[in-house]
Amino acid sequence: MTTDFTPENVPVPMGHYIGGTLVSPAGERQIEVNRPSDGKFFASLPDAGTDTVDSAVCGALQAAKKSGWSTCAPRERTRALYRWAALIEQDELLLQLEAACSTRPVTLAKSTDVASAAETIRFFAELADKAGGEHYATRHSALGFSTAEPYGVIAAITPWNFPLSMAAWKCGPALATGNAMVIKPSEMTPFSTVRLAELAVLAGIPPGILNVIHGLGATAGAQLVAHPAVGKVSFTGSPVTGAAIMTNAANNGIKPVTLELGGKSPQLVFEKVNDLAQVARCISDGFTGNAGQVCVAGTRLIVHKNIANELIGKIRQNIAGCQPGLTWNSASRYSPIINKTQADKIHALVVTAREQGAEILTGGTFFTETGEGAFYRPTLISGVSNDMDVVCKEIFGPVLTIQTFTDEEEGIALANDSVYGLAAGVYTRDFSQGMRAIKAIDAGTVWVNRYGRSQDFIIPTGGFKMSGIGKDLGRAAMEACQRHKSVLIDF
Ligand code: NAD
Repeated sequence: MTTDFTPENVPVPMGHYIGGTLVSPAGERQIEVNRPSDGKFFASLPDAGTDTVDSAVCGALQAAKKSGWSTCAPRERTRALYRWAALIEQDELLLQLEAACSTRPVTLAKSTDVASAAETIRFFAELADKAGGEHYATRHSALGFSTAEPYGVIAAITPWNFPLSMAAWKCGPALATGNAMVIKPSEMTPFSTVRLAELAVLAGIPPGILNVIHGLGATAGAQLVAHPAVGKVSFTGSPVTGAAIMTNAANNGIKPVTLELGGKSPQLVFEKVNDLAQVARCISDGFTGNAGQVCVAGTRLIVHKNIANELIGKIRQNIAGCQPGLTWNSASRYSPIINKTQADKIHALVVTAREQGAEILTGGTFFTETGEGAFYRPTLISGVSNDMDVVCKEIFGPVLTIQTFTDEEEGIALANDSVYGLAAGVYTRDFSQGMRAIKAIDAGTVWVNRYGRSQDFIIPTGGFKMSGIGKDLGRAAMEACQRHKSVLIDF
Protein backbone atom coordinates (compact mmCIF):
# COMPACT_ATOMS: atom_id res chain seq x y z
CA MET A 1 0.00 0.00 0.00
CA THR A 2 1.23 3.50 -0.78
CA THR A 3 1.35 5.93 2.14
CA ASP A 4 1.51 9.70 2.50
CA PHE A 5 4.93 11.28 3.02
CA THR A 6 6.36 14.66 3.95
CA PRO A 7 8.41 16.17 1.10
CA GLU A 8 10.57 18.22 3.52
CA ASN A 9 11.87 14.95 5.01
CA VAL A 10 12.98 13.37 1.74
CA PRO A 11 16.82 13.12 1.61
CA VAL A 12 17.62 14.53 -1.83
CA PRO A 13 20.73 13.24 -3.64
CA MET A 14 22.43 16.55 -4.43
CA GLY A 15 24.74 17.06 -7.39
CA HIS A 16 25.67 15.36 -10.64
CA TYR A 17 26.22 11.60 -10.45
CA ILE A 18 29.49 10.84 -12.22
CA GLY A 19 31.56 7.67 -11.90
CA GLY A 20 29.35 6.43 -9.06
CA THR A 21 29.80 9.58 -6.93
CA LEU A 22 27.69 12.67 -6.30
CA VAL A 23 29.68 15.74 -7.31
CA SER A 24 28.85 19.43 -7.12
CA PRO A 25 31.78 21.43 -8.55
CA ALA A 26 32.45 24.82 -6.98
CA GLY A 27 31.53 27.70 -9.25
CA GLU A 28 28.57 26.07 -11.02
CA ARG A 29 25.44 28.11 -10.57
CA GLN A 30 22.52 26.55 -8.72
CA ILE A 31 19.08 26.04 -10.28
CA GLU A 32 16.06 25.96 -7.97
CA VAL A 33 13.58 23.11 -8.32
CA ASN A 34 10.03 23.67 -7.04
CA ARG A 35 7.26 21.22 -6.16
CA PRO A 36 4.48 21.45 -8.77
CA SER A 37 1.60 20.71 -6.43
CA ASP A 38 2.24 23.59 -3.99
CA GLY A 39 4.81 25.68 -5.88
CA LYS A 40 7.26 25.59 -2.93
CA PHE A 41 11.03 25.17 -3.16
CA PHE A 42 12.17 21.53 -3.05
CA ALA A 43 15.95 21.51 -3.66
CA SER A 44 18.56 22.95 -5.98
CA LEU A 45 20.96 21.46 -8.46
CA PRO A 46 24.11 22.59 -10.27
CA ASP A 47 24.07 23.71 -13.92
CA ALA A 48 26.83 21.60 -15.51
CA GLY A 49 29.68 23.52 -17.09
CA THR A 50 32.02 22.29 -19.83
CA ASP A 51 34.38 20.50 -17.40
CA THR A 52 31.54 18.55 -15.81
CA VAL A 53 30.11 17.46 -19.16
CA ASP A 54 33.58 16.45 -20.31
CA SER A 55 34.36 14.46 -17.17
CA ALA A 56 30.99 12.63 -17.34
CA VAL A 57 31.36 11.66 -21.03
CA CYS A 58 35.08 10.77 -20.89
CA GLY A 59 34.53 8.88 -17.61
CA ALA A 60 31.69 6.92 -19.24
CA LEU A 61 33.90 6.02 -22.21
CA GLN A 62 36.67 4.83 -19.89
CA ALA A 63 34.22 2.85 -17.76
CA ALA A 64 32.78 1.15 -20.85
CA LYS A 65 36.28 0.09 -21.90
CA LYS A 66 37.73 -0.84 -18.51
CA SER A 67 34.80 -2.41 -16.67
CA GLY A 68 34.07 -5.03 -19.31
CA TRP A 69 30.42 -3.87 -19.48
CA SER A 70 30.46 -3.71 -23.28
CA THR A 71 32.46 -6.92 -23.81
CA CYS A 72 31.10 -9.24 -21.09
CA ALA A 73 28.74 -12.12 -21.85
CA PRO A 74 25.37 -10.42 -22.44
CA ARG A 75 23.78 -12.68 -19.75
CA GLU A 76 25.92 -10.88 -17.18
CA ARG A 77 24.22 -7.65 -18.19
CA THR A 78 20.87 -9.46 -18.00
CA ARG A 79 21.55 -10.48 -14.40
CA ALA A 80 22.67 -6.97 -13.36
CA LEU A 81 19.64 -5.37 -15.01
CA TYR A 82 17.33 -7.83 -13.22
CA ARG A 83 18.89 -6.92 -9.86
CA TRP A 84 18.44 -3.25 -10.76
CA ALA A 85 14.76 -3.74 -11.59
CA ALA A 86 14.19 -5.39 -8.19
CA LEU A 87 15.80 -2.43 -6.39
CA ILE A 88 13.78 0.07 -8.43
CA GLU A 89 10.55 -1.61 -7.39
CA GLN A 90 11.36 -1.56 -3.68
CA ASP A 91 13.09 1.78 -3.24
CA GLU A 92 10.98 4.19 -1.21
CA LEU A 93 13.34 7.11 -1.85
CA LEU A 94 13.02 6.70 -5.62
CA LEU A 95 9.24 6.79 -5.33
CA GLN A 96 9.25 9.84 -3.07
CA LEU A 97 11.68 11.79 -5.24
CA GLU A 98 9.46 11.10 -8.24
CA ALA A 99 6.27 12.16 -6.48
CA ALA A 100 7.68 15.20 -4.63
CA CYS A 101 8.98 17.23 -7.54
CA SER A 102 7.08 15.93 -10.55
CA THR A 103 3.40 15.97 -11.48
CA ARG A 104 2.91 12.31 -10.57
CA PRO A 105 0.71 11.62 -7.49
CA VAL A 106 2.47 9.10 -5.26
CA THR A 107 -0.09 6.28 -5.62
CA LEU A 108 0.05 6.49 -9.42
CA ALA A 109 3.82 6.97 -9.36
CA LYS A 110 4.08 3.65 -7.55
CA SER A 111 1.56 1.65 -9.58
CA THR A 112 2.55 3.02 -12.98
CA ASP A 113 5.85 4.96 -13.14
CA VAL A 114 7.95 2.89 -10.72
CA ALA A 115 6.32 -0.40 -11.74
CA SER A 116 6.72 0.42 -15.41
CA ALA A 117 10.36 1.52 -14.98
CA ALA A 118 11.17 -1.84 -13.35
CA GLU A 119 9.30 -3.81 -16.02
CA THR A 120 10.97 -1.84 -18.80
CA ILE A 121 14.40 -2.72 -17.43
CA ARG A 122 13.37 -6.41 -17.14
CA PHE A 123 12.08 -6.41 -20.71
CA PHE A 124 15.44 -5.16 -22.04
CA ALA A 125 17.39 -7.42 -19.66
CA GLU A 126 15.78 -10.41 -21.39
CA LEU A 127 16.78 -9.09 -24.81
CA ALA A 128 20.45 -8.51 -23.92
CA ASP A 129 21.66 -11.78 -25.49
CA LYS A 130 19.18 -11.73 -28.34
CA ALA A 131 20.37 -8.60 -30.11
CA GLY A 132 22.99 -9.94 -32.46
CA GLY A 133 23.95 -9.34 -36.07
CA GLU A 134 22.88 -11.26 -39.17
CA HIS A 135 24.31 -13.96 -41.41
CA TYR A 136 24.20 -13.45 -45.19
CA ALA A 137 24.26 -15.86 -48.11
CA THR A 138 26.90 -14.11 -50.19
CA ARG A 139 27.34 -14.33 -53.99
CA HIS A 140 30.73 -15.98 -53.71
CA SER A 141 32.12 -18.54 -51.34
CA ALA A 142 32.84 -15.86 -48.76
CA LEU A 143 31.31 -15.91 -45.30
CA GLY A 144 29.23 -12.78 -44.77
CA PHE A 145 27.81 -11.59 -41.47
CA SER A 146 27.33 -8.48 -39.39
CA THR A 147 28.16 -7.84 -35.78
CA ALA A 148 26.03 -5.57 -33.63
CA GLU A 149 28.20 -3.28 -31.52
CA PRO A 150 27.43 -0.62 -28.94
CA TYR A 151 28.04 3.05 -29.74
CA GLY A 152 30.25 3.50 -26.66
CA VAL A 153 28.55 6.43 -24.93
CA ILE A 154 24.91 7.29 -25.58
CA ALA A 155 23.69 10.70 -24.42
CA ALA A 156 20.06 10.74 -23.31
CA ILE A 157 18.05 13.91 -22.70
CA THR A 158 14.65 13.55 -21.07
CA PRO A 159 11.56 15.73 -20.40
CA TRP A 160 9.72 16.54 -17.18
CA ASN A 161 6.39 14.84 -17.74
CA PHE A 162 7.33 11.25 -16.81
CA PRO A 163 10.89 11.57 -15.49
CA LEU A 164 11.34 8.02 -14.25
CA SER A 165 9.62 6.17 -17.11
CA MET A 166 11.42 8.23 -19.74
CA ALA A 167 14.80 7.56 -18.11
CA ALA A 168 14.02 3.82 -17.96
CA TRP A 169 12.97 3.78 -21.64
CA LYS A 170 16.36 5.28 -22.55
CA CYS A 171 18.56 3.31 -20.11
CA GLY A 172 17.05 -0.16 -20.66
CA PRO A 173 18.09 -0.71 -24.30
CA ALA A 174 21.28 1.37 -24.10
CA LEU A 175 22.66 -0.56 -21.12
CA ALA A 176 21.41 -3.98 -22.28
CA THR A 177 23.38 -3.54 -25.51
CA GLY A 178 26.59 -2.71 -23.60
CA ASN A 179 26.70 1.07 -23.94
CA ALA A 180 27.66 3.52 -21.22
CA MET A 181 25.41 6.55 -20.76
CA VAL A 182 25.27 10.14 -19.72
CA ILE A 183 21.72 11.24 -19.10
CA LYS A 184 20.52 14.80 -18.58
CA PRO A 185 17.05 14.86 -17.03
CA SER A 186 14.84 17.91 -17.18
CA GLU A 187 16.02 20.65 -14.86
CA MET A 188 12.47 20.70 -13.43
CA THR A 189 12.33 17.03 -12.39
CA PRO A 190 15.91 15.80 -11.99
CA PHE A 191 16.22 13.88 -8.72
CA SER A 192 14.57 10.50 -9.38
CA THR A 193 16.99 10.00 -12.30
CA VAL A 194 19.95 10.40 -9.93
CA ARG A 195 18.46 7.85 -7.55
CA LEU A 196 17.89 5.51 -10.50
CA ALA A 197 21.62 5.73 -11.29
CA GLU A 198 22.58 5.17 -7.64
CA LEU A 199 20.45 2.01 -7.63
CA ALA A 200 22.17 0.83 -10.82
CA VAL A 201 25.52 0.87 -9.00
CA LEU A 202 23.99 -0.86 -5.96
CA ALA A 203 22.74 -3.55 -8.37
CA GLY A 204 26.28 -4.19 -9.62
CA ILE A 205 26.31 -2.14 -12.82
CA PRO A 206 29.87 -0.76 -12.80
CA PRO A 207 30.26 2.85 -11.58
CA GLY A 208 30.68 5.21 -14.54
CA ILE A 209 28.39 3.21 -16.84
CA LEU A 210 25.33 5.30 -15.98
CA ASN A 211 26.00 8.97 -15.22
CA VAL A 212 23.62 11.86 -14.63
CA ILE A 213 24.42 15.49 -15.27
CA HIS A 214 22.11 18.36 -14.42
CA GLY A 215 21.56 21.69 -16.04
CA LEU A 216 19.70 23.79 -18.53
CA GLY A 217 19.08 22.50 -22.02
CA ALA A 218 20.72 25.36 -23.88
CA THR A 219 23.96 24.99 -21.90
CA ALA A 220 24.49 21.55 -20.34
CA GLY A 221 22.21 19.75 -22.82
CA ALA A 222 23.75 21.35 -25.89
CA GLN A 223 27.31 20.67 -24.67
CA LEU A 224 26.45 17.05 -24.04
CA VAL A 225 25.06 16.60 -27.56
CA ALA A 226 28.13 18.28 -29.09
CA HIS A 227 30.72 16.32 -27.08
CA PRO A 228 33.01 14.46 -29.51
CA ALA A 229 33.02 11.22 -27.46
CA VAL A 230 29.22 10.88 -27.56
CA GLY A 231 28.33 8.26 -30.18
CA LYS A 232 24.56 8.71 -30.33
CA VAL A 233 21.88 11.00 -28.92
CA SER A 234 18.51 9.79 -27.70
CA PHE A 235 16.07 12.60 -26.94
CA THR A 236 12.51 12.91 -25.70
CA GLY A 237 10.95 16.35 -25.56
CA SER A 238 9.46 19.09 -27.68
CA PRO A 239 9.83 19.36 -31.47
CA VAL A 240 11.62 22.74 -31.18
CA THR A 241 14.30 21.22 -28.96
CA GLY A 242 14.39 18.09 -31.12
CA ALA A 243 15.23 20.22 -34.17
CA ALA A 244 17.98 22.06 -32.24
CA ILE A 245 19.45 18.74 -31.08
CA MET A 246 19.36 17.29 -34.59
CA THR A 247 21.21 20.31 -35.97
CA ASN A 248 23.74 20.23 -33.12
CA ALA A 249 24.33 16.49 -33.57
CA ALA A 250 24.75 16.98 -37.33
CA ASN A 251 27.23 19.82 -36.87
CA ASN A 252 29.27 17.93 -34.29
CA GLY A 253 30.17 14.60 -35.80
CA ILE A 254 26.98 13.68 -37.72
CA LYS A 255 25.75 11.68 -34.77
CA PRO A 256 22.64 9.55 -35.13
CA VAL A 257 19.63 10.76 -33.18
CA THR A 258 16.44 9.23 -31.89
CA LEU A 259 13.80 11.92 -31.37
CA GLU A 260 10.57 11.24 -29.46
CA LEU A 261 8.66 14.48 -29.77
CA GLY A 262 5.27 16.04 -29.17
CA GLY A 263 1.84 15.36 -30.57
CA LYS A 264 -1.74 16.50 -30.96
CA SER A 265 -3.41 13.15 -31.16
CA PRO A 266 -6.94 12.68 -32.55
CA GLN A 267 -9.63 10.50 -30.98
CA LEU A 268 -11.81 9.47 -33.94
CA VAL A 269 -15.21 8.11 -32.91
CA PHE A 270 -17.38 6.59 -35.65
CA GLU A 271 -21.17 6.39 -35.41
CA LYS A 272 -21.44 2.70 -34.52
CA VAL A 273 -19.38 1.74 -31.47
CA ASN A 274 -19.63 -1.20 -29.09
CA ASP A 275 -20.05 0.67 -25.83
CA LEU A 276 -20.27 4.47 -25.74
CA ALA A 277 -19.64 4.61 -21.97
CA GLN A 278 -16.35 2.78 -22.43
CA VAL A 279 -15.40 5.11 -25.32
CA ALA A 280 -16.13 8.07 -23.04
CA ARG A 281 -13.86 6.62 -20.34
CA CYS A 282 -11.00 6.15 -22.84
CA ILE A 283 -11.38 9.70 -24.10
CA SER A 284 -11.69 11.22 -20.61
CA ASP A 285 -8.58 9.38 -19.35
CA GLY A 286 -6.79 10.10 -22.62
CA PHE A 287 -6.79 13.86 -22.09
CA THR A 288 -6.90 14.20 -18.27
CA GLY A 289 -4.20 11.65 -17.38
CA ASN A 290 -1.23 13.55 -15.88
CA ALA A 291 -3.44 16.62 -16.52
CA GLY A 292 -2.84 16.27 -20.25
CA GLN A 293 0.95 16.43 -19.86
CA VAL A 294 1.40 13.29 -21.92
CA CYS A 295 3.01 13.18 -25.36
CA VAL A 296 0.23 10.93 -26.67
CA ALA A 297 -2.61 12.79 -24.91
CA GLY A 298 -5.71 12.38 -27.08
CA THR A 299 -6.70 16.03 -27.17
CA ARG A 300 -8.70 16.30 -30.41
CA LEU A 301 -12.09 14.58 -30.26
CA ILE A 302 -13.46 14.02 -33.77
CA VAL A 303 -16.86 12.43 -33.38
CA HIS A 304 -19.72 11.48 -35.70
CA LYS A 305 -22.37 14.19 -35.38
CA ASN A 306 -25.19 11.72 -34.56
CA ILE A 307 -23.57 10.58 -31.29
CA ALA A 308 -21.66 13.75 -30.35
CA ASN A 309 -24.08 15.08 -27.70
CA GLU A 310 -24.45 11.77 -25.91
CA LEU A 311 -20.70 11.18 -25.86
CA ILE A 312 -19.92 14.70 -24.63
CA GLY A 313 -22.47 14.25 -21.81
CA LYS A 314 -20.70 11.09 -20.64
CA ILE A 315 -17.25 12.71 -20.83
CA ARG A 316 -18.54 15.63 -18.71
CA GLN A 317 -19.72 13.19 -16.05
CA ASN A 318 -16.36 11.39 -15.99
CA ILE A 319 -14.20 14.48 -15.68
CA ALA A 320 -16.27 15.92 -12.84
CA GLY A 321 -14.33 13.48 -10.62
CA CYS A 322 -10.95 15.15 -11.30
CA GLN A 323 -10.00 16.92 -8.07
CA PRO A 324 -6.66 18.50 -7.13
CA GLY A 325 -4.43 17.05 -4.42
CA LEU A 326 -0.83 17.27 -3.23
CA THR A 327 1.31 14.68 -5.01
CA TRP A 328 2.61 13.29 -1.70
CA ASN A 329 -0.88 12.44 -0.45
CA SER A 330 -1.81 8.86 -1.28
CA ALA A 331 -5.44 9.82 -2.03
CA SER A 332 -4.45 12.23 -4.85
CA ARG A 333 -5.00 11.18 -8.46
CA TYR A 334 -5.29 14.35 -10.56
CA SER A 335 -1.98 16.01 -11.47
CA PRO A 336 -0.89 19.61 -11.13
CA ILE A 337 0.59 21.44 -14.12
CA ILE A 338 4.39 21.41 -13.84
CA ASN A 339 4.57 25.13 -12.97
CA LYS A 340 2.65 28.39 -13.14
CA THR A 341 4.33 29.53 -16.37
CA GLN A 342 3.22 26.39 -18.20
CA ALA A 343 -0.27 26.65 -16.67
CA ASP A 344 -0.56 30.26 -17.84
CA LYS A 345 0.34 29.16 -21.39
CA ILE A 346 -2.47 26.58 -21.31
CA HIS A 347 -4.95 29.17 -20.06
CA ALA A 348 -3.87 31.72 -22.68
CA LEU A 349 -4.63 29.22 -25.47
CA VAL A 350 -8.09 28.60 -24.02
CA VAL A 351 -8.79 32.34 -23.67
CA THR A 352 -7.67 32.98 -27.26
CA ALA A 353 -9.94 30.19 -28.51
CA ARG A 354 -12.89 31.80 -26.70
CA GLU A 355 -12.05 35.18 -28.26
CA GLN A 356 -11.96 33.49 -31.68
CA GLY A 357 -15.53 32.28 -31.18
CA ALA A 358 -15.06 28.82 -29.65
CA GLU A 359 -17.40 27.72 -26.85
CA ILE A 360 -15.92 26.53 -23.52
CA LEU A 361 -18.40 23.81 -22.51
CA THR A 362 -16.76 23.20 -19.16
CA GLY A 363 -13.50 24.12 -17.38
CA GLY A 364 -11.30 26.89 -18.75
CA THR A 365 -10.28 27.94 -15.23
CA PHE A 366 -7.83 27.04 -12.47
CA PHE A 367 -8.83 25.23 -9.32
CA THR A 368 -8.64 28.02 -6.74
CA GLU A 369 -8.32 26.01 -3.52
CA THR A 370 -4.75 24.87 -4.17
CA GLY A 371 -2.68 27.99 -3.36
CA GLU A 372 0.43 28.22 -5.52
CA GLY A 373 -0.07 24.77 -7.05
CA ALA A 374 -1.28 25.23 -10.62
CA PHE A 375 -4.15 22.78 -11.08
CA TYR A 376 -6.19 23.35 -14.25
CA ARG A 377 -9.73 22.08 -14.67
CA PRO A 378 -10.41 19.55 -17.44
CA THR A 379 -11.68 21.69 -20.28
CA LEU A 380 -13.99 20.88 -23.21
CA ILE A 381 -14.08 23.27 -26.18
CA SER A 382 -16.46 23.10 -29.14
CA GLY A 383 -17.04 25.38 -32.12
CA VAL A 384 -13.40 25.14 -33.17
CA SER A 385 -11.71 24.93 -36.56
CA ASN A 386 -8.42 23.40 -37.61
CA ASP A 387 -6.70 26.74 -38.06
CA MET A 388 -7.12 27.73 -34.37
CA ASP A 389 -4.04 27.34 -32.15
CA VAL A 390 -6.09 25.39 -29.60
CA VAL A 391 -6.64 22.69 -32.26
CA CYS A 392 -3.30 22.65 -34.05
CA LYS A 393 -0.76 23.33 -31.26
CA GLU A 394 0.32 20.87 -28.57
CA ILE A 395 -1.18 22.36 -25.40
CA PHE A 396 0.23 19.89 -22.85
CA GLY A 397 -2.71 20.47 -20.56
CA PRO A 398 -6.16 18.93 -19.89
CA VAL A 399 -7.92 20.54 -22.85
CA LEU A 400 -10.07 18.59 -25.33
CA THR A 401 -11.31 20.21 -28.53
CA ILE A 402 -14.43 18.78 -30.16
CA GLN A 403 -15.15 18.56 -33.90
CA THR A 404 -17.88 16.60 -35.64
CA PHE A 405 -18.06 14.83 -39.01
CA THR A 406 -20.65 13.09 -41.14
CA ASP A 407 -18.74 10.55 -43.22
CA GLU A 408 -15.67 8.37 -42.78
CA GLU A 409 -13.51 10.25 -45.28
CA GLU A 410 -14.19 13.59 -43.59
CA GLY A 411 -13.40 12.15 -40.14
CA ILE A 412 -10.08 10.69 -41.29
CA ALA A 413 -9.16 13.90 -43.12
CA LEU A 414 -9.75 15.90 -39.92
CA ALA A 415 -7.67 13.40 -37.91
CA ASN A 416 -4.76 13.67 -40.35
CA ASP A 417 -4.87 17.45 -40.66
CA SER A 418 -1.97 18.03 -38.28
CA VAL A 419 1.78 18.58 -38.47
CA TYR A 420 2.08 15.91 -35.77
CA GLY A 421 1.71 12.15 -36.15
CA LEU A 422 2.38 10.60 -32.76
CA ALA A 423 -0.74 8.57 -31.95
CA ALA A 424 -4.45 8.25 -32.63
CA GLY A 425 -7.50 6.53 -31.15
CA VAL A 426 -10.18 4.97 -33.37
CA TYR A 427 -13.52 3.73 -32.03
CA THR A 428 -15.81 1.57 -34.15
CA ARG A 429 -17.59 -1.78 -34.01
CA ASP A 430 -17.12 -2.25 -37.76
CA PHE A 431 -13.94 -4.28 -38.29
CA SER A 432 -13.50 -3.20 -41.92
CA GLN A 433 -13.93 0.44 -41.00
CA GLY A 434 -11.33 0.03 -38.24
CA MET A 435 -8.87 -1.54 -40.70
CA ARG A 436 -9.43 1.26 -43.23
CA ALA A 437 -8.82 3.86 -40.51
CA ILE A 438 -5.62 2.13 -39.30
CA LYS A 439 -4.28 2.22 -42.85
CA ALA A 440 -5.31 5.81 -43.52
CA ILE A 441 -4.18 7.44 -40.29
CA ASP A 442 -0.76 9.05 -40.45
CA ALA A 443 0.55 8.34 -36.96
CA GLY A 444 3.17 6.15 -35.30
CA THR A 445 0.63 4.40 -33.07
CA VAL A 446 -3.08 3.70 -33.67
CA TRP A 447 -5.18 2.35 -30.82
CA VAL A 448 -8.56 0.83 -31.73
CA ASN A 449 -11.35 0.75 -29.12
CA ARG A 450 -8.85 1.69 -26.38
CA TYR A 451 -6.41 4.48 -25.66
CA GLY A 452 -2.94 4.33 -24.20
CA ARG A 453 -0.04 2.04 -23.82
CA SER A 454 -0.65 0.39 -20.42
CA GLN A 455 2.78 -1.15 -20.04
CA ASP A 456 3.19 -2.93 -23.37
CA PHE A 457 6.97 -2.60 -23.58
CA ILE A 458 7.19 -5.15 -26.35
CA ILE A 459 5.61 -2.72 -28.86
CA PRO A 460 7.83 0.08 -30.16
CA THR A 461 6.66 3.66 -29.81
CA GLY A 462 7.58 6.70 -31.89
CA GLY A 463 6.10 9.36 -34.09
CA PHE A 464 5.57 10.19 -37.74
CA LYS A 465 5.88 13.69 -39.22
CA MET A 466 6.93 16.33 -36.63
CA SER A 467 6.48 13.84 -33.80
CA GLY A 468 9.89 12.36 -34.25
CA ILE A 469 12.40 9.96 -35.71
CA GLY A 470 13.03 6.39 -34.56
CA LYS A 471 11.47 4.29 -31.82
CA ASP A 472 11.72 3.74 -28.08
CA LEU A 473 10.74 0.39 -26.53
CA GLY A 474 10.41 -2.98 -28.27
CA ARG A 475 13.20 -4.67 -30.17
CA ALA A 476 13.49 -1.53 -32.30
CA ALA A 477 14.96 0.31 -29.31
CA MET A 478 17.69 -2.33 -28.94
CA GLU A 479 18.57 -1.97 -32.62
CA ALA A 480 18.69 1.80 -32.21
CA CYS A 481 21.41 1.44 -29.56
CA GLN A 482 23.71 -0.64 -31.78
CA ARG A 483 25.58 -0.17 -35.02
CA HIS A 484 26.13 -3.06 -37.40
CA LYS A 485 29.56 -3.86 -38.76
CA SER A 486 29.49 -5.90 -41.97
CA VAL A 487 32.11 -8.62 -42.32
CA LEU A 488 33.09 -10.64 -45.39
CA ILE A 489 35.61 -13.45 -45.00
CA ASP A 490 37.05 -15.08 -48.10
CA PHE A 491 38.51 -18.53 -47.70
P1 NAD B 1 11.76 20.33 -23.79
O1 NAD B 1 12.07 20.06 -25.21
O2 NAD B 1 11.57 21.73 -23.36
O3 NAD B 1 12.93 19.74 -22.86
C1 NAD B 1 13.27 18.39 -22.88
C2 NAD B 1 14.72 18.23 -22.43
O4 NAD B 1 15.57 18.86 -23.39
C3 NAD B 1 15.05 18.88 -21.09
O5 NAD B 1 15.93 18.04 -20.39
C4 NAD B 1 15.74 20.16 -21.51
O6 NAD B 1 16.63 20.67 -20.53
C5 NAD B 1 16.49 19.71 -22.73
N1 NAD B 1 16.86 20.76 -23.68
C6 NAD B 1 16.22 21.93 -23.95
N2 NAD B 1 16.88 22.63 -24.91
C7 NAD B 1 17.95 21.87 -25.27
C8 NAD B 1 19.01 22.03 -26.22
N3 NAD B 1 19.08 23.11 -27.01
N4 NAD B 1 19.93 21.06 -26.34
C9 NAD B 1 19.86 19.94 -25.57
N5 NAD B 1 18.89 19.74 -24.64
C10 NAD B 1 17.95 20.69 -24.50
O7 NAD B 1 10.50 19.42 -23.45
P2 NAD B 1 9.68 19.37 -22.07
O8 NAD B 1 8.89 20.62 -21.96
O9 NAD B 1 10.57 18.97 -20.95
O10 NAD B 1 8.71 18.11 -22.33
C11 NAD B 1 7.50 18.21 -22.98
C12 NAD B 1 7.62 17.76 -24.42
O11 NAD B 1 8.11 16.42 -24.47
C13 NAD B 1 6.27 17.72 -25.12
O12 NAD B 1 6.39 18.22 -26.43
C14 NAD B 1 5.95 16.22 -25.14
O13 NAD B 1 5.03 15.84 -26.13
C15 NAD B 1 7.30 15.64 -25.35
N6 NAD B 1 7.33 14.21 -24.97
C16 NAD B 1 7.38 13.26 -25.96
C17 NAD B 1 7.35 11.89 -25.63
C18 NAD B 1 7.38 10.82 -26.70
O14 NAD B 1 7.61 9.65 -26.36
N7 NAD B 1 7.17 11.16 -27.96
C19 NAD B 1 7.28 11.52 -24.28
C20 NAD B 1 7.23 12.51 -23.30
C21 NAD B 1 7.27 13.86 -23.66
